[in-house]
Amino acid sequence: MTQRVAIVTGAARGIGAATAQRLAGDGLAVAVLDLDEAATKATVDAIESAGGNALGVGADVSSPEAVEAAVERVVEGLGAPTVLVNNAGITRDNLLFKMTESDWDMVMNVHLRGSFLMSRAVQKHMVAAGWGRIVNLSSTSALGNRGQANYSAAKAGLQGFTKTLAIELGKFGVTVNCVAPGFIVSDMTKATAERIGQDWEVYVAARAAEIPVARAGQVEDIANTVAFFVGEGAGFVSGQVIYVAGGPRT
Ligand code: NAD
Repeated sequence: MTQRVAIVTGAARGIGAATAQRLAGDGLAVAVLDLDEAATKATVDAIESAGGNALGVGADVSSPEAVEAAVERVVEGLGAPTVLVNNAGITRDNLLFKMTESDWDMVMNVHLRGSFLMSRAVQKHMVAAGWGRIVNLSSTSALGNRGQANYSAAKAGLQGFTKTLAIELGKFGVTVNCVAPGFIVSDMTKATAERIGQDWEVYVAARAAEIPVARAGQVEDIANTVAFFVGEGAGFVSGQVIYVAGGPRT
């Protein structure tokens, strides 16, 4: 069998970088996509120095032109992609009365429009291959989170998007699932601690105290779950959401 090709968006750092490295370790060629191609170098280097095959690609997932060009580059550089992890994300937190239109639109554009554009561009390669895996990154915030009306709406929206794509693409051998992380140590959560003026160590300890497994999540916890959905053995699992939050609730 020829090497499968995956695209992981937002893979310059954090959960995306860990997922790209995990999939490369599982034997896939991985396109490391992020806003700035130069920023993908660390992830690409880590994959290559572990003996894997990677390509750094710069693209804004909310731009249709950039998405089409990026997928073409992947086809030329690695081969037709049949795995897509829609991981790129941003937060623009604020209470509703202070939330601007731009805060709302930016979050919708990256998470929802970005996942839509990437999935639309990649699905034709999956359909042609008669096999594919799409994994979307939702969040426990989909269940509601103070200060995140935009982000929780986008992350809940991704769950509906996932279930619909699972119905549409199933007959082509394509599964579509969601991973919904809880509190994960990353630049995104570090920025949240900074915004609310809390010391990072204090913030992590307070969050961990609320989590049944009594620790903060690590990026590898999410990468492992994405790898399960991507695996050859998960072909009968589709349209599902797995909360990876160290317990049954947020
Ligand atoms: P992060 O901020 O560390 O990394 C996000 C990456 O996405 C960055 O490299 C950024 O440059 C990239 N990105 C942002 N906008 C982009 C765009 N328009 N096009 C291409 N790339 C873009 O975040 P993270 O913590 O690693 O989160 C990854 C995903 O997991 C996000 O979708 C996030 O919403 C979700 N998530 C994270 C947590 C958490 O606790 N960290 C919890 C639940 C869900």
